[in-house]
Amino acid sequence: MTFEELGLSHKVLEAVQASGYTTPTPIQAQAIPPALQGRDILGIAQTGTGKTAAFTLPMLSRLESGRARARVPRTLILEPTRELAAQVEESFAKYGKNHRLNVALLIGGVSFGDQEAKIMRGADVLIATPGRLLDFFDRGKLLLTGIEILVIDEADRMLDMGFIPDIERVCKLVPFTRQTLFFSATMPPEITRLTEAFLHNPIRCEVARAATTASTIRQVLVASRGHADKRETLRNLIRSAENFKNAIIFCNRKRDVAVLHRSLLKHGFSTGALHGDMDQLARMASLDAFKNGEVSLIVCSDVAARGLDIPDVSHVFNFDVPTHSEDYVHRIGRTGRAGRSGVAMTIVTEDDMKYVDQIQGLIGKAIDWEGPGFEALPPPMETSRPQERRGERGERGPRRERGRRPTVEREAPVSMGRPRGGRSQPEAESFRSPACAASASDRRERRPRRYEEDGPPVVGLGDHVPSFLLRPVALRPAKVAED
Ligand code: AMP
Repeated sequence: MTFEELGLSHKVLEAVQASGYTTPTPIQAQAIPPALQGRDILGIAQTGTGKTAAFTLPMLSRLESGRARARVPRTLILEPTRELAAQVEESFAKYGKNHRLNVALLIGGVSFGDQEAKIMRGADVLIATPGRLLDFFDRGKLLLTGIEILVIDEADRMLDMGFIPDIERVCKLVPFTRQTLFFSATMPPEITRLTEAFLHNPIRCEVARAATTASTIRQVLVASRGHADKRETLRNLIRSAENFKNAIIFCNRKRDVAVLHRSLLKHGFSTGALHGDMDQLARMASLDAFKNGEVSLIVCSDVAARGLDIPDVSHVFNFDVPTHSEDYVHRIGRTGRAGRSGVAMTIVTEDDMKYVDQIQGLIGKAIDWEGPGFEALPPPMETSRPQERRGERGERGPRRERGRRPTVEREAPVSMGRPRGGRSQPEAESFRSPACAASASDRRERRPRRYEEDGPPVVGLGDHVPSFLLRPVALRPAKVAED
């Protein structure tokens, strides 16, 4: 099938050609023709499948007739994160270069003034995160009665982030007669309920199961002694990585993103960070620096990095094993994009094995181990510890470099061969059947994560017990009174 056969307008076809795309992806081939006819779409597709163009291109074609009025946008695209919203704006700039459309972005962390000015000019396309959109609406700065097309993107992520009540509210505020284009990578029951309530006789377009990982990605697990050793394990992995160009490093919690970022900087790595507590300008600057190659590493949380389209990422490191197995699929999907090869390395402690089991169940295969197994790991390196701790408290670390391989090598590199002794079982032991693990993941039900990436509050020291507390202590016998 060619783009010409899809029924897109001449202007859109010219922009597609200029982008260098010759063949529509499966989601585009399935969704674009009915979307052009005004049908509702239920697209089950994850990022990397070309789904942004699947809704952007028909929207552009349909927007060619008609004009926007002040404060009354014509179309609305809801995205769960600011980065995704900004990415969709870039797509409109690329595919809409032959159109004179006003595109407005309503995201948190940016001043209201500039955004209001754009809305006042009349927005043909409004791209928004739910919170900021409803803020604008509640202040009376925006009317949603003119919406002709509503796009809800990454709906399952909206669910994870607790946005479903906001989405329901928006769906009730826009006209009943609008067209809805709805995309989700997975279809948990809450999302199915939403589609039943708000889509009118949709065309269902489904591409590759959300649980599949691209065959172009080499996935490995690397054992680490415990939480305190993971930073050293990561540094060794980065230093010894083959065909390294750049890497995204994922942490489960945003406070760990900040800690790891500081630690990598102190060890001389060229590193940026991306998490939900950073202000919008800092997030954009970090992302741009990574995309332009000014930094070769970026430490991220899931929420901030979900769906980012950075075409050429050579490595993904999971500093923490994700506790939601679907996050694993999304994380490693940041590499091996567009047919390129990529490497995804996950650092695993013994406490993480239950999550590894769930991930292997979800993706339906065992992931290979690399390096020594837990029991064959070298003992903790006492000399590197105090140094690292001192570094974290702000004392000077080794000389900072722009490159990724600092000349100051303080730790012995991890052997990258097969596990020494004892560690070949995990492949057999930890692999469970997909069905069994899928039901486990269903049971873990997708509760709204209002607390974003930080997880529930940590009590006491959490999982981590500092090693000084575990040292044996010699107790003196109590003195007996002498008479
Ligand atoms: P998305 O799933 O929308 O994040 O898109 C993933 C990547 O695929 C983006 O870099 C797009 O530019 C690219 N892409 C979208 N459509 C096509 C196409 N028909 N042919 C080749 N690449 C495409």
